[in-house]
Amino acid sequence: MKLLEDRIRKDGIVKPGNVLKVDSFLNHQIDIGLYQEMGREWKRLFEGTKITKILTIEASGIGLACITAQYFNVPVVFAKKSQSINLDGESYCTKIRSFTHQRVYDVIVSRKYLSPEDKILIIDDFLANGCALEGLIEIIHEAGAAVAGVGIAVEKGFQDGGRKIRSMGIRVESLAIVQSMDPATGEIVFADHSPADAAAEDPVH
Ligand code: 5GP
Repeated sequence: MKLLEDRIRKDGIVKPGNVLKVDSFLNHQIDIGLYQEMGREWKRLFEGTKITKILTIEASGIGLACITAQYFNVPVVFAKKSQSINLDGESYCTKIRSFTHQRVYDVIVSRKYLSPEDKILIIDDFLANGCALEGLIEIIHEAGAAVAGVGIAVEKGFQDGGRKIRSMGIRVESLAIVQSMDPATGEIVFADHSPADAAAEDPVH
């Protein structure tokens, strides 16, 4: 998505350790007009796919999921990073290793808000090694629900998450895929197409 790529080029900051900071428009201060365009784009990409709910993870996924949900007209559920483990059995639980904080969180979703009839679109801001998505997918499967697809704002294509999740047969639509980024020069190179687009255009390979 050109609008997002241009904004990342203009305002994104490449940090050491493969971290891209987009705090000025995506996940600290938020450009709502940009979020709206992203929500519209996922609606266009997932047109014709049955979606009953959007699932994300706190904190930075929530705003993006809420704006996007307005176009799908479905509720948003967000997984909570929990201090206390699930003793009463009322929640689905998993553990997620945070890429940015380098620690493991217990993550929970109440059993009340996911059901076997649900077709779920997962929305998140970044895809790096895929740990957050793997945790959310595990929760969806535990609930007996189906993953309808994944919408990611920024996929770091040089990390392994995208390959892992797509190899599970799950459709991942990333609006910008960073192919490489250099903390010394600040240069960010984007992949031309998402792997899904490329496969559709060139079915032989
Ligand atoms: P993963 O679980 O795929 O390794 O990492 C995804 C999660 O880590 C996202 O929810 C996001 O919050 C965070 N994250 C991963 N890489 C980056 C990055 O380069 N910049 C920012 N701001 N967050 C990131």
